[in-house]
Amino acid sequence: MATILNKTNQFPENMKCAHELIIKAKNGEKGNSKGDTYALPAFNVTTYQGIEAAIEAFETLGSSGLIAFSNSACKHFGKGDALEGLEYIHEHVKFRASKSSVPIATHLDHGDNIGEHGRKVIRKAIETLTSVMADNSTDHANKCATSLDVNIEATKEVVDLAHPKGISVEGELGVLAGEEDEDTKSEISTYTDPEELKRFLHETGVLMLAPTIGTMHGPNKGKPGHKVKLNLELAHDCLEIANSINPDIIFVAHGASTLYQNVVDHALTSMKGLGINEKEIETWKNFVGTDWEQIKGLIQNGFCKINTDTENRQTYLSALLGAVNSNASKVDIRYYEKITYKALVDSYIQKLIMAGNYGVWHEPKIDVKNFKFDLTL
Ligand SMILES: [Zn+2]
Repeated sequence: MATILNKTNQFPENMKCAHELIIKAKNGEKGNSKGDTYALPAFNVTTYQGIEAAIEAFETLGSSGLIAFSNSACKHFGKGDALEGLEYIHEHVKFRASKSSVPIATHLDHGDNIGEHGRKVIRKAIETLTSVMADNSTDHANKCATSLDVNIEATKEVVDLAHPKGISVEGELGVLAGEEDEDTKSEISTYTDPEELKRFLHETGVLMLAPTIGTMHGPNKGKPGHKVKLNLELAHDCLEIANSINPDIIFVAHGASTLYQNVVDHALTSMKGLGINEKEIETWKNFVGTDWEQIKGLIQNGFCKINTDTENRQTYLSALLGAVNSNASKVDIRYYEKITYKALVDSYIQKLIMAGNYGVWHEPKIDVKNFKFDLTL
């Protein structure tokens, strides 16, 4: 028997289990009204600035907030120690959330229950965050896909630990291509098998699932000029199966970063101004983002958590290049911090609007229809 999610658990003030917020999105709930399905972008953050910028964006729009931390982000917060990093994250977000106008969920991205390190991190995350991903489809240490049996057993073990504490669990079935960070990269990729999906959902009891349907991690989602075509037919087959098992199951799209042309243009202009070599400029020109129209279609059908990292990294770097290009002798950390912070907030706001995640907890504080994502102060 799969362990069910305990929905009576009390989290610190204004903190919620990720599933509780995402199921509202799947049901189209905003305030007391019911409308179209929307999605929670899970913003992968790696710095305190990123946490602050994401929460400011959530508060600006009255959004449901979801912040994700990868294993390497946890390590960065903990100066090499992911377990300590999770404690810093826990204390920081708890304090910030207590002053927030909207609820916040925190999620471990690409945790696993396969290797010794992964097992320690995911257990710590169950104590410190409100949601975890148990990505047991890959054995990262040995760089190979795991068998379905191993994936089910390892994921069920996490569900058994997490669900009684009210912590939601995201599983992964199939192997996703591309590179997210040094701990999450894969040269292999396989699509999710619908027959395996049935068994996986029944036996693990996960309420969040990342199927592999062709999305990719990293800044190069396909070759220049050619966007990756998602396997939408497979996505719909999988959704149908999941909904027939339990309509509370949410699908997750990994690698849902969009490439913003204004971000690329701003970076290119700044790099030329700074005399940066052609090779770096070429790299920027060759970035390929996910096709938003395809992601939008997935959201309408129940992919209500969309993982977003690369676009915010690009935004940060583009804003920093612009700040240095326009004022390289400004000896003031705050100047550069302000510019990158505002750019991040804008980047987050842009994605929240695209995903329809605004006006959920209160009216947006800005005119959503006329918002302009701008990289300058
Ligand atoms: Zn991912």
